[in-house]
Amino acid sequence: MSSFRYSDVHKIVYPRRHEGIYKNRGDNPWISIRIRQGVGRDPSKWSSGQLRVIAEVSSAYSDGRAMLGTRGDVEIFKVDFRLFNEVTAKLKEAGLDPRDSCGNSVRNPIPCASQFCPYAHVNAEALSTFIGDYFRYKNEYEQPSLPHRIKISISACERACAVPVAQDIGIVAKPNGKFNIYLGGGIGEHAFSAKLAFTDVDAEDLLPICIGVAEVFRRSGERRGFKWIVKSRGLDEVKEEVVAIAREVKPRLPKPPDLSPKIIKSRIVKVPYPTGWVTAGELIKLANAADEYGFGYVLLFNNQNVYIPVREDISKIEGFSNYEIKNPGPTYPEGPMTVACLGSELCPPGLIDTTSLGRKIHVHLSRFNEPIRVGISGCTHDCGMSWIADIGLEPFGYRTRILLTIGGTSTALGFIIGTIDPGDAELAVKVLLNMYERSGVHGVRDFVAKVGIDAIRGELGKNVPSLKPPDKDMVIIFGPD
Ligand code: SF4
Ligand code: SF4
Repeated sequence: MSSFRYSDVHKIVYPRRHEGIYKNRGDNPWISIRIRQGVGRDPSKWSSGQLRVIAEVSSAYSDGRAMLGTRGDVEIFKVDFRLFNEVTAKLKEAGLDPRDSCGNSVRNPIPCASQFCPYAHVNAEALSTFIGDYFRYKNEYEQPSLPHRIKISISACERACAVPVAQDIGIVAKPNGKFNIYLGGGIGEHAFSAKLAFTDVDAEDLLPICIGVAEVFRRSGERRGFKWIVKSRGLDEVKEEVVAIAREVKPRLPKPPDLSPKIIKSRIVKVPYPTGWVTAGELIKLANAADEYGFGYVLLFNNQNVYIPVREDISKIEGFSNYEIKNPGPTYPEGPMTVACLGSELCPPGLIDTTSLGRKIHVHLSRFNEPIRVGISGCTHDCGMSWIADIGLEPFGYRTRILLTIGGTSTALGFIIGTIDPGDAELAVKVLLNMYERSGVHGVRDFVAKVGIDAIRGELGKNVPSLKPPDKDMVIIFGPD
């Protein structure tokens, strides 16, 4: 083939999405490659050597940029699709692997940073590696067998930093050594809150239950996602089916590893990358800092921050002197931060330029010295996780409007304020932030509880003329459920 037409996307790239490949926007040969850790590796820890390889690959095959994802992944863009195997081979040499990071697959089961948190009841990273490895490279849990993706997260305590509310399977450790499991969450078009399905689950039953969910889902053929199975069949029926499969498969499965908490004594440098873009040069700087002051790796989570664990006696890091070195602790809420997806620059369904909008909005966050998360997505797939952000923006429709939500947390979806014109998005966020600041309340969800959504809508309506309150149609499109 001498040239690549956008219309070829379905023939060549689409069936291979589970391999970590995604067509970039436009009539060009570009793809993005979403990269996750290889089999057997802690999905949250990225070694300095791996950061250097991504820097090298993004410079040689792309435009020297990479994007930090919201599942602990890293994505590179503008790679010629004909070089996918060549790039993947280089990544594999460094223990990285794009497969099962995209398309219909069991995605990276993202753990909280339990090894750097005094609240941890378990080793979430070890559990995540164990569960993730089971599903890796299994054809039955990849397209075309799997009708949609499955997202799993693991939180090592009830603070639930790993956002169980928005996962197909949200695992949350309890102080008694057992686990709660939430099922059927999912954001984007039709936002569904995950529901508490199982309580006090033993560690050895976690993988069987995950397989039970994957099997119920696979056998259903429901292309809209597992959340719709929970919705249509009801939680009780789904639980029964999941348990029946879990009982059947459990005797054949490996036992989980030792999950007792493993705390690594350290302090943490948090390096935020608002809207997620990081250059090859910055990746090398991060790698050097991790080697010189820390443990040879950085942590990635769900918020486009890079965390560099450093030795306890370190008080300053060359090249990062503006960044606070803090004690280990929860990673949600964090901020101020602006999390954004790829958007219209390179993503085919993108309706708005999330990077430009995010950067403008982030300027208004800079005066806050507290956790505030703005989540911006380029379309209703909501890769920017707007529904769980303090302030969320998610565009939709042929004549693009932006859905505005407020007060999302890791355990509760945000409330719908209404829709606005894209040109008013920055103004709307500014008005909301001013209102929040004036209230004197700490925590945006508490602010919503105190002031009330109607008052917020009223104030916004005075300043943002394009605001339209939610109507029946909008609720049908978006939920929440
Ligand atoms: S506070 Fe957050 S990071 Fe710490 S153990 Fe709990 S869920 Fe994990
Ligand atoms: S939310 Fe839409 S525009 Fe943004 S990365 Fe996902 S699919 Fe692309």
